[in-house]
This record gives sequence, C-alpha cells and structure tokens, in this order.
Amino acid sequence: MLSREAAGSRQLPHTRDAKTLCPYCGVGCGIIATTDGSRITKIRGDNHHPANFGKLCPKGATVAQTVDVRTRLRHAMSRSSRAQEPSCVTAGEAVQHVADRLNHILQSHGPEGIAFYLSGQLTTESQYLFNKFAKGYLRTNHVDSNSRLCMSSAASAMTLSLGSDGPPTCYADIDLADTFLFIGSNAAECHPIVFGRVERRLEKRRTHCVVVDPRRTKTAESANLHLAVRPGTDLALLNGLLYLLDMWGKIDPAFIAAHTEGWAELRAMLPQYPPHRVSQICGIGVPELLQTAKTIADAKRLITFWTMGVNQTLQGTFTSNAIINLHLATGQIGKPGCGPFSLTGQPNAMGGRDVGYMSHLLPGQRQIANADHRLQIERFWGLPQGTIYPHAGYDAVRMFDALESRDIRAIWIVGTNPAASMPNLPKIRRALERADLVIVQDAYYPTETTRYADVLLPAAVNLEQSGTFCNSERRVTLMEQVVKPPGEAQPDWWWPRHVAAAMSFTRGMWFNTAEDIFDEFARSTAGRPNDQSALSHATLRAKGPQIWPCPALGAPQERRYTDGVFPTSSGRARFFAREHLTAEEKTTAKFPLLLTTGRVANQWHTRTKTALVPALGKGEAAPSVHMHPADAESLFLQDRQAVTVHSSRGESATILRIDAAMSPGLVWMPIHWNELWGKRASCNEITTDASDLQSKQPALKCCAVSVTARADDAAEPETATAVAPLAIVHRHV
Ligand code: SF4
Repeated sequence: MLSREAAGSRQLPHTRDAKTLCPYCGVGCGIIATTDGSRITKIRGDNHHPANFGKLCPKGATVAQTVDVRTRLRHAMSRSSRAQEPSCVTAGEAVQHVADRLNHILQSHGPEGIAFYLSGQLTTESQYLFNKFAKGYLRTNHVDSNSRLCMSSAASAMTLSLGSDGPPTCYADIDLADTFLFIGSNAAECHPIVFGRVERRLEKRRTHCVVVDPRRTKTAESANLHLAVRPGTDLALLNGLLYLLDMWGKIDPAFIAAHTEGWAELRAMLPQYPPHRVSQICGIGVPELLQTAKTIADAKRLITFWTMGVNQTLQGTFTSNAIINLHLATGQIGKPGCGPFSLTGQPNAMGGRDVGYMSHLLPGQRQIANADHRLQIERFWGLPQGTIYPHAGYDAVRMFDALESRDIRAIWIVGTNPAASMPNLPKIRRALERADLVIVQDAYYPTETTRYADVLLPAAVNLEQSGTFCNSERRVTLMEQVVKPPGEAQPDWWWPRHVAAAMSFTRGMWFNTAEDIFDEFARSTAGRPNDQSALSHATLRAKGPQIWPCPALGAPQERRYTDGVFPTSSGRARFFAREHLTAEEKTTAKFPLLLTTGRVANQWHTRTKTALVPALGKGEAAPSVHMHPADAESLFLQDRQAVTVHSSRGESATILRIDAAMSPGLVWMPIHWNELWGKRASCNEITTDASDLQSKQPALKCCAVSVTARADDAAEPETATAVAPLAIVHRHV
C-alpha cells in the first residue's frame, strides 16, 4: 500500500500563519500565508525574511490565486496510445505502470535509454531524490534540468574562475556598494525586489549605475548610463574596459599577486581591445566606453549583476569569466559591498546545482568525470564502487536530440514545460513524438508538454508541501506546508520514491518525509565548498533562512572568499584570457534582423501559473515582437499588426509592437506566450539551440530572423486570460 504520510494527509492545524516562499524568481522572497485550514486566505511578505523584508512584487502577492484552480492536475492519468485521451488511474496504478515501463526499457535498451528533465522550481529534496534515483539506482546520467537554459554559463564560469559555483556576494552587499554594473540583466522586471534595493541605494549621493543591454529596458531607464551594445559583444566590452583600467593604473597589483593566477596571459591579450576596436565591435561610442571605464575605475565598491543576456549566448561562459576577471583585477571581491553577482532565474536553481541535478554533476558540487567524487558519493549512498557511470550524461539540448534519434527511449519530465520553453521547438516536438515513453509530472494540466504524455503524475505546488529552496544569494529557506494538495497530488519526491520501491530499489530510496531527504542531502555537502551540513528543517525553522557555506563546525559565511583563499587546486582564483569571437548567429539577406528574447514583469515562464491571475494580464498581455520605428517603416509595418517572424528553424505568429526602446536592426520577443495561447505563438519556434561549448547553454539571445506581415491579419486579443488559450489545447490532448 502506498504511503501518504507526506502527501498532505498529515493533519494540518486550522487558522494559522505559515512561513513559505514565493515560487517564482530567484530573489527568493519570504511569504507569510494565512490559512483557515483548507484555503489560503491571505498572502503577505515576510518582514523578517532577509531577501525581501516584507516586500512582494505583483506575482508573489497574487500567488494564492494559482493554487485552487480548475487547471490543477489532481489525479494520475495514463493512456496506451497517443491517439487516445488519457484517463484517470489511481496513484498506485500509475506507480506500477511507470515502474513496469522503465523496467522494460532498462532490459531492452539499458540505463542509457532513460532520461530525466528536471526543474529549478522543485524543492531541493525532490531534486536530490530524482538525481539519486537516476544516477545511483537506474544508473543513467541523463539527468538535466531547465537550469541548463538559465544559469549554466554563470555556474560554469564561477567554477572555472573561483573553484566553486555560487556567487561570492549577498544581498546585504547592495546596501554597501557605490557602483552597480548590470550586464544582460533586466532586473527591474525580472528580479524586481532586488532591483528595488538597488534603486534605494541609488538615491544616495555618489552612487552610480551602468546598464549594458541591447534594449533600453526598465533597468536601463534607471541607470546613469546605458550602453546599447550589439547582442553577443559583451565579452569584447569587458576586455576593453579591463584594458583601460590596466592602462590607467586602476587595477590592484597586491591582490593579483597574492590571490590569483593567469594575470600575465590576460594582460598580454588586453591590447587587442583598444577603445576604437571595442567601439566598432559593440556598436557604441568611444566616449560612452571611456565614461563606463571611468565609473568603474572610480568605484570603491562595485557589484556586477548578470543573468540571461550573458548566459544565453555562445560565449556565455567566457563572458562570465570576463566579468570575474574585472573583479579579480580590481580586488573587488571578498569584501563588503562588492563582487560579481550572478542573479538566478528560478527559485531553486541554486539548490538544484547544489544537489547536482545537471548531467555532469553529483551532490556537493562534485563532478561525474572525477573518479574520487564518484567514489565519495557511491560510499555515501552505500552503493558498490563503479555504480555511477564515469561519463557525463546528455545536457538538455543533446537529451532531446537523443530522444529524436531514439538513443533515448523514455523521458521523465518534472515541473517544467520543454514543449514551450526549449529552443527550436519544431525539433523538440519531433523528439517527444518519437519517444517510447513520456512521463510528465506537473501541478497543472494542460501544458504544452502534457500533450505528449503517456503518463501524467500530479504534483503539489510549494504551498502544499514542506521543503527548501536556495535563492540567488545562496540562502536556504524552509517552506512550511500551508494547505493540503488536491486529489492525489503529491510532493514531487514522492513519485520517484514509490516508483523506486516498485522496481525493488528500496534501500537508500525509502524516505518518509522531506526532512529526512534534506538531512541526507545536507550531510552529502560536508567539507565541500557549498557545505550545508549544519542545516536541517529543525534548524531552519528555529533560526530562519540560512546562507551557505554553513558547516556543522563553524559559522555561516554571508560573503565568500574574505580571506582571499579560493577552492581551486592552488588556492588562487584564475584569470582567463578569453577572446571575443564573432560566432553568434549572423544576419543574412534572408534573415536581416537579430532577435533577442526576455521576460516581462508580470508573467512567469510559460504562464501555467500567471495566466490564472487576471490582474497580471494587464500591460503586456499577448505575444509580441518589438521593433524599432525605423525598421517598421522600412518594412511598411504598422503598430499592432499581425506579423510572422521567420528563422531557419521555423515561424512564429505574433503581433508587432513599434518600440523606440529597441536598437535599429534588433527585435525582441517575450518568452511567455506559447501554443496554449495560439498556434506558433512561441518565440521558441524560431530560436536556435546552438550552445556555448563549455556550459552547453543554448544561445537564445541572438538569432537571425525576418519579419513579414501576416496574411491572416488576426486581431490582437484584448486581455490575456487562461480561458481562450486552454480551449485550444484541449483539442490537442
Ligand atoms: Fe517572487 Fe521574485 Fe517577485 Fe520576490 S521578486 S515576489 S521572489 S517573483
């Protein structure tokens, strides 16, 4: 008989306040949810949470409206053929069915025939157990996550340059900094509570903000200086800035000599980036470049924020290395109020990286390719030496390639929507159609991905379960369960635990609570750079959110590397001489415009949640492509006209918005509107899956496209609600 001890059957007290977290972005805002025992009656910001001190943006403030909704997946469903409608089955039947199908694929194709695609929106406990089940028991390393689309380049660069993933900084540094550099980050819309803290700091005298972004975003509007560089040229800009700082004697030779290696090689490369060349590559004026360099040179405490605009490029890792180079060369790291600060897109992408839910990682920031690391985890998990395969599995893009070529036969997709969010969607659809088995575990139904599911497993949302998230500043917060999940929905970890049991993998997988899983995860990090061995649910409940490293012996460290010692083999941070390559997708006569993509303030990812909140549909309410007025005029296109955006991958049907914030030659599309809204509505119909060689992160931010008037000149919908789009997908399922 299946256990429901963690599934919400636990008796919950009646009217009360529960501490939980916002499920959206990586800021990680604390929430107090009031419940009458069955419903959430009020949401407010947690005044004591150090990420937000009581503040919430409109998404976080309305999250209660996404819980008890008609689009929740309440029961498991399955079907024997995709020509049939899925029908409800019991949780026990679904578990046995998944176990039988996975066993069959194990016997016919071996472990490499099975893949898992996970999410930065799962709790650390769920991410840990899926990773353990796959790599330790099924023995497949084909475990990757949507963090590959989000943070992979930043993680790869921090590991290479500093010896460990995770930023050296914390939010409290914002209140101490005097200069902020944002590169490829529209934090005003994507990380609004953090950006609000920056704005309050900018109200003080002698504080400065420079924003580097091809678009004049809301973040750029708040800056003292906006550099509208060409997409994919940030690395040249950073090399050019460091060249000027070195020439002006504004580097920190003592810090470089004591705490770094590789400066001579980097310094030898910098003269290739004089201002006139950088100006040409980046499409900015020399005076703006000099002014930016002077602002950085004068900074006593500099924070550089970056996110998708850097990470989602072919040189995302190298550009992130160059950001870190800038901080190492000026000694602006490991001190109050300064440092390179990668902002995380999802609420628990940092936790996922800590548990090793990428195809090349193991728990505690260990690498699969490292024999010692594999042995440590095999011993820790009580498995025979040699159990874990020595090679990294497929990253997200290669995972779907392998599904299309039928090297992979089964995929278990958890808490993410790749049929909308992956680049080059025509290929993703072919891959899912060719799979022998698609298991989709989600809290909502339908999504673009459930259309391909053979088995659907219902998941609890975070307000319905206990567990932990780790935010952008490495702070771990315990979420208390607020209400029970509906029907037979379960915390995500519950499903692999029971499927493992049905496949006779009981030892090492038999957990009864999220707390037990967290204890094992925390112990796996002991002695590692992301040590969290002092933490437990009880500690987090008693002391509140805690930042790592948080070793069992020793104090938590809000700011890392304060002693100038880095967890590399030499103890020194590494400079990397990274050349700018003109490798991003080029415009051609057929595709003369460059497309970049992004988020809007009131929507989240593929809108499975935010489409349910009418108030969030105000403002940017429909799919769109934004274009500079001069480009629109030359193409004879009108504002709000129905258009098609074409690339070599496919076509996207959308609405033109003429927007003076765009640079000429550049168009921009929000990522949120997909097939549920309208046929070919997604920007990912046309985005590229060409990837950064180090991080394997796709270069979503730079695609060559054309825009033409659409013959079926559909009127723009007036407001974005879930109702009309869902009617479309019901026909597909
Ligand atoms: Fe949620 Fe991010 Fe808004 Fe905070 S800033 S309330 S974490 S979406």
